[in-house]
Amino acid sequence: MSDLLERYAEVAGADVIHHLRQLSEPLQGMKVVHVNSTKDGGGVAEILRKLVPLMEALGLEVRWEVIHGEPDFFQCTKGFHNALQGHQVSIGPSLLETYERINQENAEKLRPLLEEADFVFIHDPQPAALLGLCPNRRGKWVWRCHIDCSRPYRPVWKYLKGFVAEYDASIFSLAEFAQALPHPQYIIAPSIDPLSEKNMDLPVRDIEEVFERFGLNPGIPLLLQVSRFDRFKDPLGVIAAYREVKRMIPCQLVLAGGGASDDPEGEAVLKEVKMAAAGDPDIHVLLLPPDSHRTINALQRAADLVLQKSIKEGFGLTVSEAMWKGKPVIGGDTGGIRIQVIDHYTGFRVRTPEGAALRIRYLLHHRNKLHEMGQRARRLVKENFLLTRHLRDYLALMIGVTYGLEDRIDTAAALR
Ligand code: UDP
Repeated sequence: MSDLLERYAEVAGADVIHHLRQLSEPLQGMKVVHVNSTKDGGGVAEILRKLVPLMEALGLEVRWEVIHGEPDFFQCTKGFHNALQGHQVSIGPSLLETYERINQENAEKLRPLLEEADFVFIHDPQPAALLGLCPNRRGKWVWRCHIDCSRPYRPVWKYLKGFVAEYDASIFSLAEFAQALPHPQYIIAPSIDPLSEKNMDLPVRDIEEVFERFGLNPGIPLLLQVSRFDRFKDPLGVIAAYREVKRMIPCQLVLAGGGASDDPEGEAVLKEVKMAAAGDPDIHVLLLPPDSHRTINALQRAADLVLQKSIKEGFGLTVSEAMWKGKPVIGGDTGGIRIQVIDHYTGFRVRTPEGAALRIRYLLHHRNKLHEMGQRARRLVKENFLLTRHLRDYLALMIGVTYGLEDRIDTAAALR
């Protein structure tokens, strides 16, 4: 067994790795390509960074390619993202022309690799048009949607569906996100990597160090939200909830975030957050570089509890990250948060800042409950949201698509 697989066996169990090896047997030597639009920032890059080496350790030949674009392209694809998450966004013909042209330019470079591959996984809308630009493809192509598209804005979805419908299959994170498409759809929840710098155990010294580095007060509770500065993550709602708690319990808030190279709206949202936080020395808005995995790990461990007050959320890796560290999460009652935050069990689901404040106060006053929920949270992640389960689903999908099985894989069903 490779060293990497052995390390996973230690965390996830030898039987889990044995199962992965069995599933990968019929796929040995297959050429697999993943394509997305950013190497850093956001959940997709976070997953691919870890999924790709583990697939390779199981004997597949895997490449991860990132398409390149220009500001107008990312403005257009951010519009797609917002529209799939339900906003009425109108995207003009010139932006759509840019979207198609940039896909064309990327296809010129990637075509030999993509047409040769046995499996191509296209992540999200940014590179979705590549399929139509590779007419001599010989492998299976799967569109992997990471976005909460339970109620997409129809005109934009209609345009994207023109590209997506041609794929051999698609993957959504939750059954609610699935769409009417003429091919098999698979439900696969994302995952976190327990061995990554973001999630591995840390010495206490690292946790103490973040208090010093960011001027945090070890004497009062620490509330944390880690997220790109995006309105769907509701950072202003988090500040409102914190203010409400602070009226009764001394506490501090860290909003840690960074940009993603394919997200052009981050700066404007960061500005709004800084304005809302101005004048309160107990709100720490941290703009972190993209490789701050260890710092985020330490902050999640340093926090008393973690918030993810999103209004829409495809999955929310930050939720599993915090839960893996034994923290209950107060999460928005939406999308993928619903399968991680089991209400009153691994945390609380909330819809308003007032609701969040109520639950924060409850947990800060009932430390035994906080601890109990945190332990359950870790167990839930261990059983459902580790990279090994995610990879198992991908392998099963590949077998299903190759051999024409039509059963869907629904890992989320057991939790609903
Ligand atoms: N993240 C990070 N630095 C930041 C903000 C977020 O490394 O400043 C990571 C975070 O830890 C998580 C991922 O980016 O692993 C975000 O994934 P999630 O699914 O929570 O949200 P997305 O950004 O994909 O909407």
